[in-house]
Amino acid sequence: MTTVATPPIVFDSLLVTVRAVEDLSPHLRRVTFVAPRLAEAVTAGPDQRIKVLLPPPNGGELKLPTGENWYVDWCGQPEAERVIMRTYTIRALRADQHELDIEFVLHGVDGPASAWATNAVPGQEIGMFLPFGVDTTSIKGMLNSGVDYVPPSSSVHRVLIADETALPALAGILEELEPGVHATVFAQVPDERDIRPLPTAGTADVTWITAVPASDAELPLLEALKAAALPETVDFAWVAGESAMIKAVRRHLVNVVGLPKPAISFQGYWKRGEAIG
Ligand SMILES: Cc1cc2nc3c(=O)[nH]c(=O)nc-3n(C[C@H](O)[C@H](O)[C@H](O)COP(=O)(O)OP(=O)(O)OC[C@H]3O[C@@H](n4cnc5c(N)ncnc54)[C@H](O)[C@@H]3O)c2cc1C
Repeated sequence: MTTVATPPIVFDSLLVTVRAVEDLSPHLRRVTFVAPRLAEAVTAGPDQRIKVLLPPPNGGELKLPTGENWYVDWCGQPEAERVIMRTYTIRALRADQHELDIEFVLHGVDGPASAWATNAVPGQEIGMFLPFGVDTTSIKGMLNSGVDYVPPSSSVHRVLIADETALPALAGILEELEPGVHATVFAQVPDERDIRPLPTAGTADVTWITAVPASDAELPLLEALKAAALPETVDFAWVAGESAMIKAVRRHLVNVVGLPKPAISFQGYWKRGEAIG
Protein backbone atom coordinates (compact mmCIF):
# COMPACT_ATOMS: atom_id res chain seq x y z
CA MET A 1 0.00 0.00 0.00
CA THR A 2 1.27 3.47 -0.84
CA THR A 3 0.61 6.23 1.67
CA VAL A 4 0.78 9.82 0.50
CA ALA A 5 2.41 12.14 3.01
CA THR A 6 0.36 15.26 3.75
CA PRO A 7 2.06 18.45 4.93
CA PRO A 8 1.83 18.92 8.70
CA ILE A 9 -0.62 21.52 9.98
CA VAL A 10 1.14 23.59 12.61
CA PHE A 11 -0.44 26.34 14.71
CA ASP A 12 1.46 28.17 17.44
CA SER A 13 1.05 31.17 19.69
CA LEU A 14 3.28 34.24 19.64
CA LEU A 15 3.42 37.83 20.81
CA VAL A 16 2.93 40.52 18.18
CA THR A 17 3.36 44.28 18.39
CA VAL A 18 1.07 46.89 16.84
CA ARG A 19 2.99 48.70 14.10
CA ALA A 20 0.18 50.82 12.64
CA VAL A 21 -3.52 51.56 13.05
CA GLU A 22 -5.63 52.91 10.22
CA ASP A 23 -9.35 53.62 10.06
CA LEU A 24 -10.65 52.26 6.76
CA SER A 25 -14.17 53.53 7.46
CA PRO A 26 -16.31 54.38 10.52
CA HIS A 27 -16.67 50.71 11.60
CA LEU A 28 -13.56 49.02 10.21
CA ARG A 29 -10.07 49.56 11.55
CA ARG A 30 -6.97 47.95 10.08
CA VAL A 31 -4.29 47.05 12.60
CA THR A 32 -0.86 46.05 11.32
CA PHE A 33 1.15 43.78 13.60
CA VAL A 34 4.84 42.96 13.48
CA ALA A 35 6.90 40.12 14.99
CA PRO A 36 10.11 38.38 13.84
CA ARG A 37 8.33 35.00 13.70
CA LEU A 38 5.75 36.29 11.22
CA ALA A 39 8.46 35.57 8.64
CA GLU A 40 7.52 31.89 9.02
CA ALA A 41 3.71 32.30 9.16
CA VAL A 42 1.59 30.96 6.29
CA THR A 43 -2.03 30.97 5.14
CA ALA A 44 -4.13 28.31 3.43
CA GLY A 45 -6.55 30.74 1.77
CA PRO A 46 -8.05 34.24 1.76
CA ASP A 47 -10.37 33.55 4.71
CA GLN A 48 -7.63 32.18 6.97
CA ARG A 49 -8.93 32.19 10.53
CA ILE A 50 -6.67 32.88 13.48
CA LYS A 51 -7.03 33.63 17.18
CA VAL A 52 -6.39 36.98 18.80
CA LEU A 53 -5.32 36.59 22.44
CA LEU A 54 -5.86 39.33 25.02
CA PRO A 55 -5.10 39.50 28.77
CA PRO A 56 -7.68 37.74 30.98
CA PRO A 57 -10.74 39.61 32.31
CA ASN A 58 -9.23 39.74 35.84
CA GLY A 59 -6.42 41.92 34.48
CA GLY A 60 -3.84 39.15 34.86
CA GLU A 61 -0.84 38.63 32.67
CA LEU A 62 -1.17 37.53 29.02
CA LYS A 63 0.10 33.95 29.18
CA LEU A 64 0.36 32.39 25.72
CA PRO A 65 -1.33 29.00 25.42
CA THR A 66 1.21 26.37 24.42
CA GLY A 67 1.56 22.62 24.04
CA GLU A 68 -0.50 19.99 22.26
CA ASN A 69 -3.35 20.20 24.78
CA TRP A 70 -3.51 23.99 24.88
CA TYR A 71 -7.22 24.12 24.05
CA VAL A 72 -8.25 21.58 26.69
CA ASP A 73 -6.02 23.41 29.21
CA TRP A 74 -7.57 26.76 28.24
CA CYS A 75 -11.14 25.40 28.54
CA GLY A 76 -10.31 24.04 32.00
CA GLN A 77 -9.26 27.42 33.40
CA PRO A 78 -11.73 29.74 35.21
CA GLU A 79 -13.10 32.28 32.71
CA ALA A 80 -11.87 35.28 34.71
CA GLU A 81 -8.30 33.94 34.71
CA ARG A 82 -7.81 32.61 31.20
CA VAL A 83 -6.65 34.69 28.25
CA ILE A 84 -9.44 36.13 26.13
CA MET A 85 -9.54 34.46 22.75
CA ARG A 86 -11.43 35.72 19.68
CA THR A 87 -11.41 34.58 16.06
CA TYR A 88 -10.29 36.91 13.26
CA THR A 89 -9.23 36.71 9.60
CA ILE A 90 -5.76 37.37 8.28
CA ARG A 91 -6.49 40.18 5.85
CA ALA A 92 -2.90 40.34 4.63
CA LEU A 93 0.32 38.55 5.50
CA ARG A 94 3.62 40.09 4.39
CA ALA A 95 5.98 37.45 5.70
CA ASP A 96 8.97 39.14 4.02
CA GLN A 97 8.27 42.25 6.12
CA HIS A 98 7.26 40.22 9.23
CA GLU A 99 3.85 41.94 9.08
CA LEU A 100 0.23 40.88 9.28
CA ASP A 101 -2.99 42.92 8.96
CA ILE A 102 -6.31 42.33 10.67
CA GLU A 103 -9.39 44.42 9.97
CA PHE A 104 -11.41 44.78 13.17
CA VAL A 105 -15.09 45.73 13.18
CA LEU A 106 -15.60 48.39 15.84
CA HIS A 107 -19.00 47.19 17.04
CA GLY A 108 -18.84 48.79 20.47
CA VAL A 109 -16.97 48.41 23.72
CA ASP A 110 -18.95 45.54 25.24
CA GLY A 111 -16.72 43.01 23.47
CA PRO A 112 -13.07 42.85 24.60
CA ALA A 113 -11.66 42.46 21.09
CA SER A 114 -13.65 45.36 19.66
CA ALA A 115 -12.81 47.44 22.74
CA TRP A 116 -9.12 46.61 22.33
CA ALA A 117 -9.15 47.60 18.65
CA THR A 118 -10.98 50.84 19.46
CA ASN A 119 -8.08 51.88 21.69
CA ALA A 120 -5.18 50.22 19.82
CA VAL A 121 -2.01 52.27 19.42
CA PRO A 122 1.41 51.44 17.95
CA GLY A 123 3.74 49.70 20.39
CA GLN A 124 1.03 47.65 22.15
CA GLU A 125 1.57 43.92 22.43
CA ILE A 126 -1.05 41.16 22.17
CA GLY A 127 -0.98 37.43 21.49
CA MET A 128 -2.03 35.46 18.42
CA PHE A 129 -2.49 31.85 17.50
CA LEU A 130 -1.34 31.45 13.90
CA PRO A 131 -0.63 28.82 11.25
CA PHE A 132 3.03 28.00 10.59
CA GLY A 133 2.21 24.96 8.45
CA VAL A 134 -0.92 24.30 6.35
CA ASP A 135 -2.14 21.45 4.17
CA THR A 136 -3.51 22.71 0.87
CA THR A 137 -3.33 19.33 -0.87
CA SER A 138 -6.98 18.41 -0.21
CA ILE A 139 -10.31 19.94 0.81
CA LYS A 140 -10.03 18.24 4.20
CA GLY A 141 -6.51 19.59 4.63
CA MET A 142 -7.67 23.12 3.77
CA LEU A 143 -10.59 22.95 6.21
CA ASN A 144 -8.33 21.60 8.96
CA SER A 145 -5.89 24.41 8.22
CA GLY A 146 -8.51 27.03 9.13
CA VAL A 147 -10.12 28.12 5.87
CA ASP A 148 -13.75 27.57 4.91
CA TYR A 149 -13.84 29.03 1.40
CA VAL A 150 -12.88 25.98 -0.65
CA PRO A 151 -14.81 26.08 -3.95
CA PRO A 152 -14.40 23.18 -6.36
CA SER A 153 -11.98 23.94 -9.20
CA SER A 154 -14.87 23.46 -11.68
CA SER A 155 -16.85 26.36 -10.15
CA VAL A 156 -17.45 29.30 -12.50
CA HIS A 157 -20.16 31.31 -10.73
CA ARG A 158 -20.16 31.87 -6.97
CA VAL A 159 -22.52 33.65 -4.61
CA LEU A 160 -20.66 35.41 -1.79
CA ILE A 161 -22.66 36.77 1.14
CA ALA A 162 -21.03 38.61 4.02
CA ASP A 163 -21.80 41.02 6.82
CA GLU A 164 -19.21 43.50 8.06
CA THR A 165 -17.26 40.93 10.12
CA ALA A 166 -16.72 38.85 6.97
CA LEU A 167 -15.84 41.85 4.81
CA PRO A 168 -12.06 41.29 5.31
CA ALA A 169 -12.44 37.66 4.16
CA LEU A 170 -14.71 38.73 1.29
CA ALA A 171 -12.19 41.34 0.11
CA GLY A 172 -9.43 38.69 0.09
CA ILE A 173 -11.64 36.15 -1.70
CA LEU A 174 -12.50 38.64 -4.43
CA GLU A 175 -8.87 39.69 -4.85
CA GLU A 176 -7.94 36.05 -5.42
CA LEU A 177 -10.92 35.17 -7.64
CA GLU A 178 -9.61 33.37 -10.71
CA PRO A 179 -9.97 35.14 -14.07
CA GLY A 180 -13.02 33.67 -15.80
CA VAL A 181 -14.91 33.18 -12.53
CA HIS A 182 -17.89 35.41 -11.73
CA ALA A 183 -19.10 36.34 -8.25
CA THR A 184 -22.54 37.61 -7.30
CA VAL A 185 -21.93 39.41 -4.03
CA PHE A 186 -24.21 40.64 -1.24
CA ALA A 187 -22.36 42.65 1.41
CA GLN A 188 -23.88 44.27 4.48
CA VAL A 189 -22.28 47.13 6.42
CA PRO A 190 -23.59 49.34 9.24
CA ASP A 191 -23.04 52.67 7.46
CA GLU A 192 -22.83 53.68 3.80
CA ARG A 193 -19.41 55.15 4.54
CA ASP A 194 -18.25 51.57 5.22
CA ILE A 195 -18.84 50.70 1.55
CA ARG A 196 -15.53 50.31 -0.24
CA PRO A 197 -14.14 49.18 -3.57
CA LEU A 198 -13.69 45.40 -3.83
CA PRO A 199 -11.14 44.79 -6.58
CA THR A 200 -11.12 41.35 -8.19
CA ALA A 201 -9.10 39.38 -10.70
CA GLY A 202 -12.37 37.75 -11.86
CA THR A 203 -15.63 39.62 -12.35
CA ALA A 204 -18.21 40.55 -9.73
CA ASP A 205 -21.53 42.29 -9.32
CA VAL A 206 -21.87 43.63 -5.81
CA THR A 207 -25.08 44.57 -3.99
CA TRP A 208 -24.36 46.64 -0.87
CA ILE A 209 -26.86 46.71 1.97
CA THR A 210 -26.62 49.33 4.70
CA ALA A 211 -28.30 48.09 7.87
CA VAL A 212 -27.89 47.48 11.58
CA PRO A 213 -30.33 44.63 12.30
CA ALA A 214 -31.70 44.91 15.85
CA SER A 215 -32.87 41.30 16.16
CA ASP A 216 -32.51 37.88 14.56
CA ALA A 217 -35.80 38.50 12.75
CA GLU A 218 -34.28 41.37 10.74
CA LEU A 219 -32.48 39.77 7.82
CA PRO A 220 -31.72 42.39 5.17
CA LEU A 221 -29.15 40.16 3.45
CA LEU A 222 -31.79 37.44 3.03
CA GLU A 223 -34.27 40.00 1.69
CA ALA A 224 -31.71 41.24 -0.86
CA LEU A 225 -30.96 37.67 -1.92
CA LYS A 226 -34.68 36.90 -2.29
CA ALA A 227 -35.16 40.00 -4.43
CA ALA A 228 -32.34 39.01 -6.78
CA ALA A 229 -32.83 36.67 -9.72
CA LEU A 230 -29.87 34.32 -9.42
CA PRO A 231 -28.90 32.69 -12.71
CA GLU A 232 -28.77 28.89 -12.93
CA THR A 233 -25.02 29.09 -13.53
CA VAL A 234 -24.45 29.59 -9.77
CA ASP A 235 -22.57 26.50 -8.56
CA PHE A 236 -21.09 27.46 -5.17
CA ALA A 237 -21.96 29.75 -2.26
CA TRP A 238 -19.93 31.13 0.65
CA VAL A 239 -21.92 32.76 3.45
CA ALA A 240 -20.33 34.31 6.55
CA GLY A 241 -21.56 36.61 9.28
CA GLU A 242 -24.10 36.67 12.10
CA SER A 243 -25.36 33.23 13.09
CA ALA A 244 -29.12 33.71 12.46
CA MET A 245 -28.39 35.33 9.09
CA ILE A 246 -26.17 32.55 7.76
CA LYS A 247 -28.68 29.85 8.72
CA ALA A 248 -31.62 31.67 7.07
CA VAL A 249 -29.58 32.37 3.94
CA ARG A 250 -28.44 28.75 3.69
CA ARG A 251 -32.06 27.55 3.97
CA HIS A 252 -33.01 29.84 1.10
CA LEU A 253 -30.07 28.73 -1.03
CA VAL A 254 -31.00 25.07 -0.52
CA ASN A 255 -34.81 25.24 -0.61
CA VAL A 256 -35.44 28.03 -3.10
CA VAL A 257 -32.31 28.48 -5.20
CA GLY A 258 -31.77 24.71 -5.28
CA LEU A 259 -28.06 24.60 -4.48
CA PRO A 260 -26.93 21.23 -3.12
CA LYS A 261 -25.87 21.43 0.56
CA PRO A 262 -22.23 20.46 -0.15
CA ALA A 263 -21.99 23.44 -2.54
CA ILE A 264 -22.60 25.86 0.34
CA SER A 265 -19.97 26.94 2.87
CA PHE A 266 -21.67 28.81 5.71
CA GLN A 267 -19.87 30.16 8.75
CA GLY A 268 -21.19 31.86 11.88
CA TYR A 269 -18.73 34.68 12.61
CA TRP A 270 -20.65 36.03 15.63
CA LYS A 271 -23.89 35.49 17.51
CA ARG A 272 -26.16 38.34 18.58
CA GLY A 273 -26.10 38.73 22.38
CA GLU A 274 -23.33 36.17 22.95
CA ALA A 275 -19.56 36.30 23.22
CA ILE A 276 -17.82 33.68 21.08
CA GLY A 277 -14.27 32.70 22.02
C1 LIG B 1 -13.73 32.53 11.11
C2 LIG B 1 -14.02 33.91 11.68
C3 LIG B 1 -13.40 35.02 11.16
C4 LIG B 1 -13.68 36.30 11.66
N1 LIG B 1 -13.03 37.38 11.12
C5 LIG B 1 -13.29 38.62 11.61
C6 LIG B 1 -12.59 39.76 11.10
O1 LIG B 1 -11.69 39.66 10.25
N2 LIG B 1 -12.93 40.99 11.60
C7 LIG B 1 -13.90 41.14 12.58
O2 LIG B 1 -14.14 42.26 13.01
N3 LIG B 1 -14.53 40.07 13.08
C8 LIG B 1 -14.26 38.83 12.64
N4 LIG B 1 -14.91 37.75 13.17
C9 LIG B 1 -15.99 38.00 14.15
C10 LIG B 1 -15.46 38.22 15.56
O3 LIG B 1 -14.80 37.05 16.03
C11 LIG B 1 -16.69 38.50 16.48
O4 LIG B 1 -17.33 39.68 16.09
C12 LIG B 1 -16.32 38.56 17.94
O5 LIG B 1 -17.50 38.40 18.69
C13 LIG B 1 -15.65 39.86 18.35
O6 LIG B 1 -15.27 39.72 19.70
P1 LIG B 1 -15.55 40.84 20.79
O7 LIG B 1 -14.66 40.51 21.94
O8 LIG B 1 -15.46 42.19 20.18
O9 LIG B 1 -17.07 40.61 21.18
P2 LIG B 1 -17.69 39.40 22.07
O10 LIG B 1 -17.17 39.46 23.48
O11 LIG B 1 -17.50 38.12 21.32
O12 LIG B 1 -19.22 39.79 22.07
C14 LIG B 1 -19.73 40.82 22.91
C15 LIG B 1 -21.06 41.27 22.38
O13 LIG B 1 -20.85 41.92 21.13
C16 LIG B 1 -21.70 41.35 20.13
N5 LIG B 1 -21.00 41.39 18.84
C17 LIG B 1 -19.94 40.66 18.43
N6 LIG B 1 -19.59 41.01 17.16
C18 LIG B 1 -20.47 41.97 16.79
C19 LIG B 1 -20.64 42.73 15.60
N7 LIG B 1 -19.83 42.61 14.55
N8 LIG B 1 -21.64 43.65 15.57
C20 LIG B 1 -22.47 43.81 16.63
N9 LIG B 1 -22.36 43.13 17.79
C21 LIG B 1 -21.37 42.22 17.85
C22 LIG B 1 -21.98 39.92 20.61
O14 LIG B 1 -23.20 39.45 20.09
C23 LIG B 1 -22.04 40.11 22.12
O15 LIG B 1 -23.32 40.53 22.51
C24 LIG B 1 -14.62 36.46 12.71
C25 LIG B 1 -15.22 35.32 13.28
C26 LIG B 1 -14.93 34.06 12.77
C27 LIG B 1 -15.59 32.84 13.39
